[in-house]
Amino acid sequence: MKIIMLGAPGAGKGTQAKKIADKYSIPHISTGDIFRANIKEGTELGKKAKTYMDQGLLVPDDLVVDLVVDRVQQDDCKNGYVLDGFPRTIPQAESLDAALEKLNDKIDYAVNVEVPDENIIRRMSGRRACLGCGATYHIEHIPPKTEGICDTCGKELVLRDDDKPETVKKRLDVYHEQTQPLIDYYTKKNVLAEVDGTKDMEEVFQDIVKVLGA
Ligand code: ADP
Ligand code: ADP
Ligand code: ZN
Repeated sequence: MKIIMLGAPGAGKGTQAKKIADKYSIPHISTGDIFRANIKEGTELGKKAKTYMDQGLLVPDDLVVDLVVDRVQQDDCKNGYVLDGFPRTIPQAESLDAALEKLNDKIDYAVNVEVPDENIIRRMSGRRACLGCGATYHIEHIPPKTEGICDTCGKELVLRDDDKPETVKKRLDVYHEQTQPLIDYYTKKNVLAEVDGTKDMEEVFQDIVKVLGA
């Protein structure tokens, strides 16, 4: 099963993508996590990406497309994958489709996690991320067992640099302008599934499972 997660920053794509990946035993591929890992390691890609990410802007398409197209052709992706944070622009979606078509392949579902902007700002200020394993928590809604420590890997949790309210506002503008058009794009391809992302985490997941089946 090949799945794309769509939705505003903070809609819960990553949270749900991890649960999908576990349930269906497929890899969770997050372009944001890949960039953050590169920033932490100080790679050239990380340095380039950081200048855009810190401003709430998208990283240019040419820095992300090849990376994802290579990743989805690795062995562990044979039975499917869940893409989280990619595609984010129409050209990215077109490049992915073209690459998959060459492989005689296609996306099965684009799951849109719908959350209004008002809820997003509140969610983001409470988000805490683990830079070790990519797990995400919320100080009120989804707290870790021990404050400030990742349940999964024991590393320290941080507030992401780009989760400050000013940057979140910019990211929402960028989302509406550049990413939201993908909802139409995947509707036309007959693969769009909408879920109400304002429900609690487990309910949202059950709604997604209903769409995906079994
Ligand atoms: P969120 O879903 O919370 O907005 P992500 O972790 O997916 O955050 O992305 C963080 C940042 O990484 C984005 O604001 C953007 O700068 C960059 N990024 C991630 N994926 C892409 C992509 N597919 N295209 C361009 N930029 C990306
Ligand atoms: P995205 O990947 O779309 O940017 P995340 O999965 O990181 O979003 O979720 C954003 C924040 O909202 C995190 O702090 C996460 O713990 C929290 N969150 C995720 N799903 C829900 C939910 N259904 N209800 C309340 N908070 C949620
Ligand atoms: Zn962790």
